[in-house]
Amino acid sequence: MKISKSTATLKQSGIRAASTRCAAINGINLGQGICDIPVEEDIKYGAYKAVENNKNIYSPCEGVFNLRQAIAKKISEFNLMNYDPVTEVLVTHGSTGAFVCAAETILNPGDEVILFEPFYGYHKHILELKGMSVKAVALSMEDLSFDMADLENVISPKTRAIVVCTPNNPSGKVYSQDELMAIGEFAKKHDLWIVTDEIYEYITYPGYEHLSIAALGDFRERTLTISGFSKTYNMTGWRLGYVTGPAEVIAKMALVQDLIYVCPATPLQHAGLSALKMQQNYYDSMAAGYLEKRNYVVSELQNMGFKIAPPQGAYYLMTDFSGLNLGDDEQAAKFLLDEARVAAVPGRYFYMDPEKGKTILRFCYALDKAKLQQAMDQMKQALSVV
Ligand code: PLP
Repeated sequence: MKISKSTATLKQSGIRAASTRCAAINGINLGQGICDIPVEEDIKYGAYKAVENNKNIYSPCEGVFNLRQAIAKKISEFNLMNYDPVTEVLVTHGSTGAFVCAAETILNPGDEVILFEPFYGYHKHILELKGMSVKAVALSMEDLSFDMADLENVISPKTRAIVVCTPNNPSGKVYSQDELMAIGEFAKKHDLWIVTDEIYEYITYPGYEHLSIAALGDFRERTLTISGFSKTYNMTGWRLGYVTGPAEVIAKMALVQDLIYVCPATPLQHAGLSALKMQQNYYDSMAAGYLEKRNYVVSELQNMGFKIAPPQGAYYLMTDFSGLNLGDDEQAAKFLLDEARVAAVPGRYFYMDPEKGKTILRFCYALDKAKLQQAMDQMKQALSVV
């Protein structure tokens, strides 16, 4: 039997593949964006209470109203943007669900979308699954900067949108106000949608501040801002996210969500309310914890001979291992898994042209400190015999 053209070429993502191989040998997974810090008791209690109180039925397809209200409040206080909880906020099946609904709502097959590369693979693959094509603009691996001329170079009559991801997975870049203003003006000039994935918004390091592009200039009308609970509250498996944007688009996205997902899990939406009640010290100590891990992992990897542009936010880093004699990116990842029992993701999965990633590995440093230490020790030992 034949299957669809769009799935015929679909393969398991490099990140999942690395995780599967790592689980098979009971290794330490620095490949996938996994954070194993437990969920706060208050949030768990919110979920128990919702189940106990029989919050069992489908919610409105836009999401539980109280949660939309709490999200609008969070967005006005943290992101400095005002969105109407009734018409401009949609609770989604993770931020991935928001991205799927956005692509379905604002784009057509054949449209071109600009991504910065290295990119987050799901952005590229979801767009391609839906028949859009991706044009990539390079972030420098030396200092995470980009060149506006490169953006102009990829514009064609088919370009419809640009995706921003800040703080960035996989590079750790946090886009500055000047950069966001330049991207916004570029989007205006070419009449593009801006889709911004801000799921790591609370994880920034000293000297870098998270800014939402929709809060700047007059970009709000062309911007969909996506975020979620997965990373901020260690709830990746709960599948809870949200998106804000102009009312007419959010209304269409709600219809799309209704067809694809019906609604996010109702009891977990109620637990999301408890998450949004966390106090400032929760966010401060989370960011401080990741800062400590970033500093530790960056210094250990640099001592082992990896070259790194230190992450400005999020909990990933791209390393250039060309000084280490480990072959190409697939061979280097295989070596680390076989010899150090540590998973990393081969660089090729973050570039349109796999050649560009062949001296690069991505590490995630979200695991607890003891596991990170064990991983670094095992890597040092394995590399000492290369
Ligand atoms: N966006 C980015 C940039 C990510 O790195 C991830 C997960 O790694 C996601 C979205 C997935 O988020 P969610 O769990 O809300 O679907």
